[in-house]
Amino acid sequence: MTDREKLGKSKRWVIKIGSSLITNEGQGLDTKAMQAWAEQIAELRNQGKEIIMVSSGAVAEGMARMGWTKRPHELHKLQAAAALGQMGLVQQFESCFKKHDIHTAQVLLTHEDLSDRQRYLNARSTLRTLLSLGAIPIINENDTVATDEIRFGDNDTLAALVANLVEADAVIILTDQQGVFDKDPRNNKDAELISSSHASDPKLLEVAGDGGSLGCGGMRTKITAARRAARSGAATLIASGAEKEVLLRVARNETLGTLLTPDSDPIATRKQWLANQLTVRGSLQLDAGACRAIQKSSLLAVGVTSVSGTFQRGDVVSCLDIDGKEVARGLVNYQASEVELIKGKASSEIENLLGYIDEPELIHRDNLVLL
Ligand code: GLU
Repeated sequence: MTDREKLGKSKRWVIKIGSSLITNEGQGLDTKAMQAWAEQIAELRNQGKEIIMVSSGAVAEGMARMGWTKRPHELHKLQAAAALGQMGLVQQFESCFKKHDIHTAQVLLTHEDLSDRQRYLNARSTLRTLLSLGAIPIINENDTVATDEIRFGDNDTLAALVANLVEADAVIILTDQQGVFDKDPRNNKDAELISSSHASDPKLLEVAGDGGSLGCGGMRTKITAARRAARSGAATLIASGAEKEVLLRVARNETLGTLLTPDSDPIATRKQWLANQLTVRGSLQLDAGACRAIQKSSLLAVGVTSVSGTFQRGDVVSCLDIDGKEVARGLVNYQASEVELIKGKASSEIENLLGYIDEPELIHRDNLVLL
């Protein structure tokens, strides 16, 4: 299978749409354009894909709501515009998707949310739950408290972090350029579109330049975002949002834009990323049944015989076999004192024992690396 075929077939996509693709020249929302995006995404859903959107457009809509014709310079006014406009953005997406019987969900995130372990895990389980409910999460930076997007157009990075978070297969960054060129196409008639490359290829950042050349369209940020997405095994496609039915054509393996692939096998990359991410805070001793079970599925509390360490929910713990040998590592869903209470017990008893239930698994299989 070619990389394009793999991309077309892949299941979980994070689609990043910049303000220019859903607003009228930056002035308020272009409802027709949004309708067209919703149509394509609904079709992708029918094809069995899981979609998470990362969308800007709040500032532009906020300005339109306030009747401002010029973009203010003051950061606090831009933040206020984002808060005002976010209402319109999600309202419009919800009604566009409603026609296709699809619910949307608003998720506002900051980069810090994803570097804090506890919040990382919370965001992760919320997004997974939304996907399992068939909803389309629509993510934007939380501009009230963070201003990276306003300053640097950094929803590209946010999209990559979200791809890491939900272990997406692909990030589709839609922009106003065709993709990454080998030279600045504005000054070089012979500039050619790079159709595909490894995300880690150092040449890419060279050709993207910095602020001056292609960098001013944010190509550098996009390439850096692709590298970040590749860490958890996701491929990134940078393509023009002006292409008709671009998303559906990508799903049909058409060669559009620039495809930036991870270096190694996605699953191996993903697990390695997980294993390297955090330090081990504790350990769980498993019985023989659990050691066998985790070869194929999640770790349940029933298979744990003893607990050591003072870990929190979201920490990495070691899983030991009956001889004390480390057989796996993973992100645990309950803190040490809670695992002490639920160890050896069926998942159906967790709610009774703790007074609440987060996940039925102690370590979900996606968060478990076998050693
Ligand atoms: N996140 C913001 C938005 O959705 C920022 C975009 C901008 O700076 O215009 O509008």
